[in-house]
Amino acid sequence: MTGKLRSLLYLTLAVALLGALPACSERAESPAAADVTPVSGPADDTVAAVATDGNPFFEEWDTPYGIPPFDRIRDEHYKPAFDRAIEELRAEIAAIRDDPEPPTFENTIEALQLAGGSLNRVSDTFSNITNTDTNDVLKELEVEINPILTREMDAIYLDEKIFARVNAVYEQLDGLGLDEQARRLVELTHLDFVRQGAALDTAGRERMKEINARLSELSTVFGQNLLEETNGFELVVKDEKDLAGLPDNMIGSAKAKAESKGIEDGWLFGLDRGTFEGFMTFAANRELRKQMYEGYRARGGQGGARDNRDEISEIALLRSEAAQLLGYENHAAYQLETRMAKTPATAQDFLLEVWKPGLKRADEELAEMQAIVQSEGHDFLIEGHDWWYYAEKLRQQKYALNETELKPYFELGNVRQGAFYVAKRLFGVTFEPLTGVPVWNPVVKAYKVTGSEGEFLGVYMTDDYARDSKRGGAWMSTYRSTSNIRGDNIRPIVTNNLNLAVPADGEPTLLSYDQVETVFHEFGHALHGLMTQVRYPRFSGTAGSPRDFVEFPSQFMEHYATEPEVLAIYARHFGTGEVIPQELVSKVRSASTHNQGFKTTEYIAASLLDLKWHELTPKQAAAVEDVVKFEDEVMAAYGKPAIIETRYRSPYFAHIFAGGYSAGYYAYLWSEILDADGFTAFKKTGDIFDPELAQRLKKNVYEAGASQDADVLYRQFRGQEPTIEPLLQIRGLN
Ligand SMILES: [Zn+2]
Repeated sequence: MTGKLRSLLYLTLAVALLGALPACSERAESPAAADVTPVSGPADDTVAAVATDGNPFFEEWDTPYGIPPFDRIRDEHYKPAFDRAIEELRAEIAAIRDDPEPPTFENTIEALQLAGGSLNRVSDTFSNITNTDTNDVLKELEVEINPILTREMDAIYLDEKIFARVNAVYEQLDGLGLDEQARRLVELTHLDFVRQGAALDTAGRERMKEINARLSELSTVFGQNLLEETNGFELVVKDEKDLAGLPDNMIGSAKAKAESKGIEDGWLFGLDRGTFEGFMTFAANRELRKQMYEGYRARGGQGGARDNRDEISEIALLRSEAAQLLGYENHAAYQLETRMAKTPATAQDFLLEVWKPGLKRADEELAEMQAIVQSEGHDFLIEGHDWWYYAEKLRQQKYALNETELKPYFELGNVRQGAFYVAKRLFGVTFEPLTGVPVWNPVVKAYKVTGSEGEFLGVYMTDDYARDSKRGGAWMSTYRSTSNIRGDNIRPIVTNNLNLAVPADGEPTLLSYDQVETVFHEFGHALHGLMTQVRYPRFSGTAGSPRDFVEFPSQFMEHYATEPEVLAIYARHFGTGEVIPQELVSKVRSASTHNQGFKTTEYIAASLLDLKWHELTPKQAAAVEDVVKFEDEVMAAYGKPAIIETRYRSPYFAHIFAGGYSAGYYAYLWSEILDADGFTAFKKTGDIFDPELAQRLKKNVYEAGASQDADVLYRQFRGQEPTIEPLLQIRGLN
C-alpha cells in the first residue's frame, strides 16, 4: 500500500491530442545531441524505396489480435516507418487546417483524435521496445527521433490556424448539441492547446518550441546517463563468507550474472532496485552494505560525462520559464492545475499532514533498531546503510516473520493467478493464456482478456525479468490504446513490466512480499487500461487520467494481496502446493505497518523535493549553483533526518527529470487517500468483493477512464468524499 516507486509510462503531451502517442517525447529515455536543425523534409524516394522493402510497418498486421509482428521488426525498420508516419500525420493535420468548410466538432475535434494512427503504431512499438530491449542502434535513434516528435507535436499545438478552428468550436459549444463525452473532448482539447501555448503571440510560441525541444533532449540525456551509471556499478564478491545472510536465490542470480560477464570465481551484484534492496536487507557484511549504499547514492552526481547535475539545473530553469510564459507562477502550479490536488499548496499541506506522524514513527523505529545493535554486543550507531538490515531483524524479532520463510509461498505464476482471481471476483474479467503469438522477448507471456459478458477486452502481456537492456523499475504501458470513435471498437494491448532477478537454472521465481504487491499494483494499472470503455483515446484508462488519480486503480489492487481469501488462492508452496499456513498469514498482516515510519519519510522527502524543484521561478532556478546543496537545504528546512535518505536524490530522480512525474511524485500518496478509503468501504460491507460496490467501482473507475473529472468519478463510486483516516490507519500512523 505504500507509496511505491512504480511508474506508469505514458506521455501527456501527445496523448492529449493523439490519444496514444506513447512515451517518446515526455518520458524521455533518449536524445543526446542538441540537434536544432529543422525536421527533415518529406521522405525522399530513396528512403521510401528502402522503407517498403519488407518493412512490417508498411503492412496491415494480420497477426493474432493485431499484436505487433515482433519476430519481423528489425531495428532498421523504425526510422523509415517514422518518416512515413510523420508525413501521413502532416497530411492529416494539413487537411484539418486547410478544410474550406467551417470548423465543426467532426471536422476539427474528432478529426484531431483520429489523426496520427500510423505514427501511434510505430511509436507505441518503438517506445516500448526501447524500454525493454534497447541497444546502441535504438538508443541512437531515440536521440534522433524524440526531438523530431516533440517538434511535430509543437507544430500542431502551436499552429495558429488549427487553434483558431479548435477555438471556434469551443466558443459555439453550447449550441452544438453534443453528448457529455463529446462536450468534454472539446473542452479538454481546447485546454490542451492553451496549456501548450497555442494562445501565445508569435514570439511566445517560438520560444515554447525551443524550450520543448531542449527539454526533450535534456530528459533523454538524464535517462541515458542514469542507465549507464546504474549498469556501471559492479560489486564483485570473491569470498563466500561475504555472502552471509543473503538468500539462496539472490546468491544464485549473482553467480549467474558474474558468469555472464566472464567472472568465473565470484558473485556480481548490480544496482537495480531489487538487488539493491535485497542486499541492503540481508547482507551481514556491513562494509559491503556501505559500498552498495554509496554506489546507489552516487549515481548521476559523481562528475564525469554521465553526471546529471547540469541537466537538472537547466530542466528546472526551462520548465519554470515555460510556466511563466503561459501565465503560471511556476511549473508546479502549471502541472497541478489539471490534477485532483489543483494547487501545489494543497499537495504540500497534505504531504505534511502525513510527514509529521511519519517522522515520529521513524524515530521510534530507529530506537528499537539501535537496541538490537547494543544487544548484539556492538557499539556503533546505526547509519543509513544499516537501516534495511536492522529493520529486517526488528521485523523478525517483533513478528517472527522472515522473508525467506515467506518466499516459497510466493511463486510468480501463482501470484499472478491470485491477481486474476481478484479481477474475476470483482469484475467478472478473465485471462486465458495465448500461445503462438508474437512476443518481443522469449520471457514474455500473453493472455486474452474477456469481460463479464464474454466480450473481448484486449490482450495482456507480461515481461517480468531484469536484463541490462531494460530500464529499471516496474511499469504498465500499452502497445495499442483503446478507441471507439466511429463504432470501430479498437481494444488495447497492455503490458506489465517488472525487473525480477532471473532465477538460477531450474529454480522457480520466488517473490518477496513487496514484489507480490508490485505484481498486484501493475495489474491494477493493466485492468484500468484493459477495461476502459470510452469513445475517445483522450479519455482512455490510464492515459487520460490525472497523475494523482491514476495510482488509485493500481494501489487499490494491492489491498487484496494480503486478504486471507485471496492468499488461499495464490500463496501455495512452490514445491508441495501447500497453502500458506494461517499463522504466517497473521504475521504478514500484523507486520504490514512495520517500518512505515522509514518508508513514509523517504517517500515524502522525495515528494517535497520534487515540489520544491518545480516551485522555483526562473530567477530562483538560475540562482541554484549546486544541485546537491539545494537539495540538502530543502530537506533540512523540512527537518528530514540525515540517516534516512530521500527515496531518490535529484541526480537519479528519473520520475521527475526523465519521466512524466514532475511536480507529481506526491501522486502516489494522494491516490492512497482514495485506495485506502475505497478499500475500507469494501471491508465495512463484510465482503471484499461486495457486488454492488464492485459494480460501481467498475463503472466509475476501471471503465470510466477520464471521461469525467476524477473527483466526480470517485464520489459516484463511493457515495461520499474520501477521508484521510483510512490511510493513516493502514500505515499505522494514527
Ligand atoms: Zn503505479
